[in-house]
Amino acid sequence: MSKTIAALATGNSPGGIGVIRISGDSAIEIADRVFECADGSSLLDLKGYRAKFGCIKSDGERFDNAVALVFRAPKSYTGEDVAEISVHGGIYIIEKALGAVFAAGAEPAEAGEFTKRAFLNGKLDLTQAESVADLISAEGEAAAQASFNLLQGALSRKITAVQEMLVDSSALMAAWVDYPDEEIPELEESELCATLKSAQARLEELLAGYDSGQTMTHGVETVIAGKPNAGKSTLMNLLAGREKSIVTEIAGTTRDVVEESVRLGGLVLHLNDTAGIHAGGDTVESIGIKRAKDKIEAAALVLAVFDSSAPLTDEDFEVLEACEGKRAIAVINKTDLETRLDCGEIEKRFAETVYISAKNGYGALALEAAVKRILGVEQFDTSAPILANQRQKDCCRKALDYIKEARKALENGLTYDAVNVMMDSAVDELLALTGQKATVEVVNNIFSKFCVGK
Ligand code: GDP
Repeated sequence: MSKTIAALATGNSPGGIGVIRISGDSAIEIADRVFECADGSSLLDLKGYRAKFGCIKSDGERFDNAVALVFRAPKSYTGEDVAEISVHGGIYIIEKALGAVFAAGAEPAEAGEFTKRAFLNGKLDLTQAESVADLISAEGEAAAQASFNLLQGALSRKITAVQEMLVDSSALMAAWVDYPDEEIPELEESELCATLKSAQARLEELLAGYDSGQTMTHGVETVIAGKPNAGKSTLMNLLAGREKSIVTEIAGTTRDVVEESVRLGGLVLHLNDTAGIHAGGDTVESIGIKRAKDKIEAAALVLAVFDSSAPLTDEDFEVLEACEGKRAIAVINKTDLETRLDCGEIEKRFAETVYISAKNGYGALALEAAVKRILGVEQFDTSAPILANQRQKDCCRKALDYIKEARKALENGLTYDAVNVMMDSAVDELLALTGQKATVEVVNNIFSKFCVGK
């Protein structure tokens, strides 16, 4: 009999409601001890997927109106009996309700324990369980869509298809090798070659999409650089859609690095608006400028802002220099004013140049397109399965290596036995990816990164 666990499933701040989730063999019994149905019935008699209105109580004293929801095993998130009690979402009420549930016999759930139980009870595979955490932490459309696809089993299906191809061929080969006297048709070498080739192509496709998947789902460290007054803060505000940086007429007033995450066409940019790069200045400003250069160095993407209404200055050349070798977009700003800038000089130094007016919002779409092009994600298909993390990538890469070795063994005329060993190892890696053969350490490690209540 598994212990029955409970935790707050909703956020830790005041809200309309707070949901306490209880899972385990005694979940409904425990819920019944703290919940009084308004119609005098008992939760113990309630069928699965049914809700009751009533009161939650502690030490026999009713203290809030609540709704109790019952799920009967195996038809629940965890696969166990589950009760969810929704109370009003005040911190005090939630603590009191949770205290009552613990006093009635539940134990506090560990981080990720509900999802871990769902995994152990076969309700989710490991890629789906991981996608639960990713879906909850998604900041943008692409991240949410990709995680939802994985939760729906898109990656599992793709991996399982490869795995089944390998297992089918492998089984046939093994049977033929082990039972030479039986009338098992010999596996055509060309057929085996085709299977391995197809498995390789599918895994390579997944691996090829890893970087753009990471970019789309985790966002990009981005620096907005440029001399003072080029319009960096205005651009940041345009992208953020609200006031964040201090925008002022006096040069050098964005003293330090201001950070903000913004959504741009489904992808998230973690923006740093730096102090303008220029010589001299007071001490505070010099520290800011040093940090600005460091930030450019560390950034995955630089938006280098130039003022189109003034000729290039030494400060602009400093920016040009700092951007050399970086993945950078020239953003020529203030195009609503008369042009005095040598734009050709800038265009030839950047892979992408965009003309905008940050003040009136002109050019935002062109900037979005340029960002996607330079990051190589303009073709990113949010409906296609992706490898969501390093663990999945490592398993996929190892499986691919074994498949390549199997192909080589076949080409070099090694025995089917030798080829089979490689194919079995590839299958093992794919089983580890989906969790069918993951070690306890791997599983514990994954769920330890979840929050309590998930
Ligand atoms: P920063 O020092 O690079 O952050 O520059 P700011 O964003 O503070 O902008 C400096 C000045 O330029 C402010 O007065 C802005 O209103 C103005 N500015 C920014 N973008 C534009 C633009 O596209 N057109 C015009 N005409 N003025 C702009």
